[in-house]
Amino acid sequence: MTSTDATDSTDGGIRKIGVLSMHTSPLDQAGVGDSGGLNIYVRELANSMANQGIDCDVYVRRTKREHPEIVEIEPGVNIIQIEAGPLGLLKGDLPAVVDLWTQGVADRLERRPVDAIHAHYWLSGVAGHHLKHRFDVPLAVTFHTLGRIKSFSGDAEPEDRIRAEDAVIGCADAVFASGKVEADQLDSFYEIRRDRIEILTPGVDHTLFSPGSSHSARKAIGLGDYPILLFVGRIQALKGLDLAIDALAASQHRDARLVVVGGLSGHQGLETHEDLMARVKRHGLSDRIIFVEPQPHHLLPNYYRAADVCLVPSRSESFGLVALEAAACGVPVVASDVGGLRDNVLDDVTGLLVDERDHKLFAAAVDKLLSAPEMRHDMGTRGVERAALHSWDAGASGAIEVFRRLMSRELVTCV
Ligand code: UDP
Repeated sequence: MTSTDATDSTDGGIRKIGVLSMHTSPLDQAGVGDSGGLNIYVRELANSMANQGIDCDVYVRRTKREHPEIVEIEPGVNIIQIEAGPLGLLKGDLPAVVDLWTQGVADRLERRPVDAIHAHYWLSGVAGHHLKHRFDVPLAVTFHTLGRIKSFSGDAEPEDRIRAEDAVIGCADAVFASGKVEADQLDSFYEIRRDRIEILTPGVDHTLFSPGSSHSARKAIGLGDYPILLFVGRIQALKGLDLAIDALAASQHRDARLVVVGGLSGHQGLETHEDLMARVKRHGLSDRIIFVEPQPHHLLPNYYRAADVCLVPSRSESFGLVALEAAACGVPVVASDVGGLRDNVLDDVTGLLVDERDHKLFAAAVDKLLSAPEMRHDMGTRGVERAALHSWDAGASGAIEVFRRLMSRELVTCV
């Protein structure tokens, strides 16, 4: 028996997970378009699970002609492209091809059986729900963002999505939350039994993200000797780059610069970009903001190491990998006091949480840190210690345990 032969498993254990990531692929560049934390999460978790003997078939929608049908990214981790709709379909049009994509995945699962399904984001949740019933296997879902929570924080989501999430949550055997705060949100915004919520804290690749000389990092990426604020991620309204720009304008440190690493995202990406550019111009900040195109994940450590403070001013966030990566590199974080960032950033210990969307409060937090090198150093040290507790290997072990438990109990049925 091979380790990929899921149906032949005789020990009642788990051999292979079918990972569903319909709307974005681990093969895509993170930090632009629809690719971000989810891509990193799926890739890192799958790699760590495979290292622990659990193979992962990761199903994505084909968006590029050049990829072969199956791309092995690590031994035991295969990315499988399923054709459904035109290659360049926008995210907003994906609900119309979910059924087609699900059928494509089902055809492959007939030939490549899995013991359980792990779906990412609500679109894959819808597919996973169908496949769970068809193949009689447990379904776990990580939503990454949830419609009701986004709507609550001012980014209204369509009713169709919210209804679909309700149906998936109603039948999921487990829903993974990134920490206690997201678990509490799931509990209060959705009808879900608490014992079906499992905590899977995302990790960070410590072989990449570690402290290092700020001077060398700045030299390597062409930055000078001035206070540096860093923003890393997709540029869309949800991420709050507007607040970071306004905070820079309000900072007393007139020599500080804001480095922005990432690209446009979402159907309003261009609009957001124009608004941000107008804001930069209005504040007269053109020579104090440095826009850097999205960087391959492994090139990011130098950006973190170069920074004095990392800004994460999101409107809502299920976890915020960027905050953890900054901490792992010894950089204090100034973040909004929302969602998973509350689990991720320890206020006054690894950074500062700002509880209102007020640029003056963000500027005050930034100024507090820029004026106090010792505080920055202490928070950086605490951040490294804290980040050391979060690894993808630990996340994968926890997830495997959950899947083992799900295999040994009756599947949840639709009400
Ligand atoms: N990222 C990257 N290159 C970039 C910008 C971002 O690899 O140019 C990665 C970043 O390191 C992080 C992820 O994209 O791992 C963003 O995750 P986060 O949870 O912060 O935000 P999300 O995209 O999930 O909203």
